[in-house]
Amino acid sequence: MPPKGRIIVSDLYCKGCELCVGACPQAVIALNPDRITAKGYHPASLFKDGCTGCGICAIVCPDAAITVYREDLRARRAIPAGA
Ligand code: SF4
Ligand code: SF4
Repeated sequence: MPPKGRIIVSDLYCKGCELCVGACPQAVIALNPDRITAKGYHPASLFKDGCTGCGICAIVCPDAAITVYREDLRARRAIPAGA
């Protein structure tokens, strides 16, 4: 099972350029048509499950607007068969 991740996009910095949208290998980012930032942009956001926390979106964002969180795989525990 791939790791789980999530992203937080800063309204302050996102300018709706869509670079992250095209770069996400899981295709889980889109501009949110229902929100407009104080600067007048539709901000990027996750629109479905599937983020793996790979960090590519944060790397390509020219405005450092994305913070990526990834599940700590070391925290996963095997469940004994029959438990
Ligand atoms: S790449 Fe950055 S600035 Fe561009 S839409 Fe994505 S989060 Fe916003
Ligand atoms: S961390 Fe990776 S999978 Fe998650 S939204 Fe960003 S590019 Fe997509």
